[in-house]
Amino acid sequence: MTENSALYTNSPDYLQTVINHIDQPTLVIDRQYHVLMTNHKLQGIAAKINTRRSSRYCYEITHNLSRPCSGRSNPCPLQKVLQTKLPVSMTHTHFDSLFNKMFVEITATPILDESGEVLHIIETFRNITRQNKIENALRESEVRYRSLFEQSGDAIFILKADGPQTGKILSANQAACHMYGYTNDEFLRLSITDLDTPEHAAKAPKRIKRILEGETLRLEIEHRAKDGRVFPVEVSASRMHVDGRKFVLVIYRDISRRREIEEDRDVLIRELQHLSQTDGLTGLFNRQHLDKRLTEEMERARRYGTPLSLIIFDIDYFKKVNDSHGHITGDRMLQTTASVIRETLRNTDIAGRFGGDEFVIILVQTEIVIGAQVAERLRCRIEQERVPVSDDQTTGFSISLGICQFDNVFARAEDFIARADAALYEAKRNRRNTVCKA
Ligand code: GH3
Ligand code: MG
Repeated sequence: MTENSALYTNSPDYLQTVINHIDQPTLVIDRQYHVLMTNHKLQGIAAKINTRRSSRYCYEITHNLSRPCSGRSNPCPLQKVLQTKLPVSMTHTHFDSLFNKMFVEITATPILDESGEVLHIIETFRNITRQNKIENALRESEVRYRSLFEQSGDAIFILKADGPQTGKILSANQAACHMYGYTNDEFLRLSITDLDTPEHAAKAPKRIKRILEGETLRLEIEHRAKDGRVFPVEVSASRMHVDGRKFVLVIYRDISRRREIEEDRDVLIRELQHLSQTDGLTGLFNRQHLDKRLTEEMERARRYGTPLSLIIFDIDYFKKVNDSHGHITGDRMLQTTASVIRETLRNTDIAGRFGGDEFVIILVQTEIVIGAQVAERLRCRIEQERVPVSDDQTTGFSISLGICQFDNVFARAEDFIARADAALYEAKRNRRNTVCKA
């Protein structure tokens, strides 16, 4: 072959021998598209050759067309070769006898005469449909991967996974630049541990080792932006293989907003919890919560044999206060009582308003003797209180208290309360402003 790959021989025998040795469908045509020769492989290509009609045109054989190929998608190889006198290669779209679309690579090689003019053309065909499909699929997946990589709102990094520079950033997406404030070039000079806080950086080599062993890592850590701002991220990391080499693919999601929402939610839950167990007027526990806590403390006392005492008390002649000075004064008296309870009791004691002017105090790990002292102290403190009823007038008040110690005979909280209530009733019956033990 010469430098321009053209063939200088025009002997028919020679040509036939040559094309018979070509392992792809091949034909020889003249300048007017007439098929002069074919090899046996041509049978496999789209259109069927009618071998009895030797005058058929190449486009009839290869494309089932009644005129030469034209246009941008299927340009005519013969015209191209006539123009350039050089071998050309192009891809044509064919339809086989079942009308399935195929991709065919056509190589057209000129045979020149002694004066350098094109005498014949050898056309070889290669069915590249399968290869084309694979390439398209690969291209599509590459495009899809790229768009995932670039359009993701999460920061995505590809890291070096071997050698002394393990953890070095090899690739970072736009979201990463946005999230951390580094440019792409700056990232390529960093290791992933440069984004970690010192505490997390120390753990990074071990984590990368686990990822390379096949583990998919998911955790929440703190990361540092270029400006020093520290923010929480959710990490998802796994290994990936490209051309036999291992890399680490790591995705960071900024979860600052999620954390804020979680914190707000926690505050809200705590507030709701507080509201659900609090008496609005006094800020002490409400009846529902007191019932629950008493049941729990009874269970503890039963299991560990620890003492437990219960005080129930009620304001004396409270109706009269309401009647003579109005509800607002009555409310103030209830609030003053709650303040005295808070000042008088230990933190471990559980106090609440049971309803109306009735209060309950659960004294954990307390014998009745000590509980009675607490009750007496409360009674005395209340006796000293004054509640304003007008601009220049105040009124005092008193309480009556019943106290009872837990006994295993009390199966339910109501039984325990009923016994303490009976003691309170006794105190009321006596002379009020007093403590009675059950
Ligand atoms: P006793 O000495 O026997 O306890 O007589 P009392 O007048 O205090 O009678 P009782 O304890 O039965 O009265 C409770 C009153 O408390 C009845 C109701 O009008 C009043 N009350 C209940 N809840 C509230 C409240 O939230 N605020 C005010 N101001 N009064 C309330
Ligand atoms: Mg009362």
